[in-house]
Amino acid sequence: MLNDICADVGKAVRPFVIKELKKTGVKIEVQTKVEEISAQGVKATNNGKPVTYAADSVVIAVGMKGQSPLAKQLEGKAPVVVAVGDGVEMKKIVGAVADGAKAGRDI
Ligand SMILES: Cc1cc2nc3c(=O)[nH]c(=O)nc-3n(C[C@H](O)[C@H](O)[C@H](O)COP(=O)(O)OP(=O)(O)OC[C@H]3O[C@@H](n4cnc5c(N)ncnc54)[C@H](O)[C@@H]3O)c2cc1C
Repeated sequence: MLNDICADVGKAVRPFVIKELKKTGVKIEVQTKVEEISAQGVKATNNGKPVTYAADSVVIAVGMKGQSPLAKQLEGKAPVVVAVGDGVEMKKIVGAVADGAKAGRDI
């Protein structure tokens, strides 16, 4: 559960994203953990207190974790195996491209 939204959005863009969300009537709840999604809506705890949000549709956008089982499986099967980008940890395109460029230079 996060304390704020859009924490990883660039500083120049973040205020505009939040302004647009508020302008369109999006209610922002932080420190909220979803416990159950049912036909009635979403049951959650907000700062430890139980709450229910009525909903017709629920969009789940909870982020991702990087994983690299493929890199481990390939170890020893090629002269050099280098895991890059999201295969190491979730990041942005710039980070993945930088990883790939470094791997290319190092080989
Ligand atoms: C919804 C979404 C929105 C995003 N928005 C942004 C954004 O606005 N700005 C930004 O900078 N970043 C954004 N990202 C993150 C960015 O897309 C990733 O950080 C970046 O694409 C990572 O590059 P990558 O090469 O490591 O992995 P990927 O781009 O995922 O490439 C991995 C490739 O490997 C292939 N593959 C997987 N397993 C195998 C296998 N066994 N054999 C062969 N091929 C395989 C996949 O099909 C894929 O084509 C976003 C990510 C998502 C999911």
